Amino acid sequence: MNHLNRLLFLSCKQATEAIEKGNTIQLSLLERARLNQHLKMCTACNMYAAFSNKAEIVIKQLALGIENEPEINETELQEKVLKKIFRK
Ligand SMILES: [Zn+2]
Repeated sequence: MNHLNRLLFLSCKQATEAIEKGNTIQLSLLERARLNQHLKMCTACNMYAAFSNKAEIVIKQLALGIENEPEINETELQEKVLKKIFRK
């Protein structure tokens, strides 16, 4: 049962690592399922995820010099980052 628990349920440390990984690359279906399951049960990791997502957006905006744009969505921000990196 311990092995099954370890396979199905993330610790808070594993959940925060998955949250950070998810800010950089897309998580696999299994990783997302395990993270979502953890987030249903853990208020602390929910707060961490919300903070991490906001911090990620602010860091990207600062890198682009657009920190004063009030309502930029994640997709638009991602496109601007890619344009700046690859100078499309
Ligand atoms: Zn947690």
